[in-house]
Amino acid sequence: MIFVLVFVLGAIIGSFFNVVLLRKNTGESIIFMGSRCFSCGKKLAWWQNIPILSFIFLRGRCFYCGSRISWQYPIVEFLVGLLAVAVYWRVWGIGSILIPAPTLFDVSMKGAEKTINHLLFFSAFSALFLVAAYDFRTKIIDSHFLYIFGAFAAVEFLLRYPAGGIAGDLVSSFSIALFFYLLWRFSGGRWMGRGDANLAFFISLFLGWPMNSAALFVSFWLGGAVGILLLIFKSGKFGLKSEIPFGPFMASAAFVVWYFGDFFRELIKAFVL
Ligand SMILES: [Zn+2]
Repeated sequence: MIFVLVFVLGAIIGSFFNVVLLRKNTGESIIFMGSRCFSCGKKLAWWQNIPILSFIFLRGRCFYCGSRISWQYPIVEFLVGLLAVAVYWRVWGIGSILIPAPTLFDVSMKGAEKTINHLLFFSAFSALFLVAAYDFRTKIIDSHFLYIFGAFAAVEFLLRYPAGGIAGDLVSSFSIALFFYLLWRFSGGRWMGRGDANLAFFISLFLGWPMNSAALFVSFWLGGAVGILLLIFKSGKFGLKSEIPFGPFMASAAFVVWYFGDFFRELIKAFVL
């Protein structure tokens, strides 16, 4: 039952993110305007604004003029709802498919601390989600979204500090960012954007060494797999030269490595050390 509640709250936040994503850099106010249809401009009633459900019973069309509503709305609402549940699941140590109990956090944490942890990690990944979703739409790493995530990354980095490894975290994060910077520099922006290096730095700082190296590999693996699929199924539209934004792959990799932290830790131990 609690999962339904967490999912619904996440989906409502996702609904707000849709507005933020669509009005970012358009000069429109994010907060002080009701939702409107992009085609006919009619204001939406509350029942046309329910996350996911409204899209389903309106069959993806505006109630007034019948023009199509973007799939972005239900997809973002669903993903943020799912994110809220996944982080909750992870932080409260309910377990996951691969790991019986989390060790990323102190297992003896009290309820209040876990709630704070849940909110902090949900906020951090929400900011990362906004970076990735905006990059997906526009191929731009938005600096506002990036710095919000960066602030969370810095907090997570500092909270981890007593456990040691501050030098390793910094050196590895700068190295990974430098790697992305060089990819950008030598490809003339065709393989990577300049913003990808900044995003790589903050994700690396957020995860710390050696998890950030795991995220690096996973992101390239994901990017490669999706790139090959696109070549096979949409060979007309996506040539080898087409720019696929890399932010969503980095963000997904960061989440996967964080979520399955113990699994990746064991994997790194088995192969490297
Ligand atoms: Zn309309």
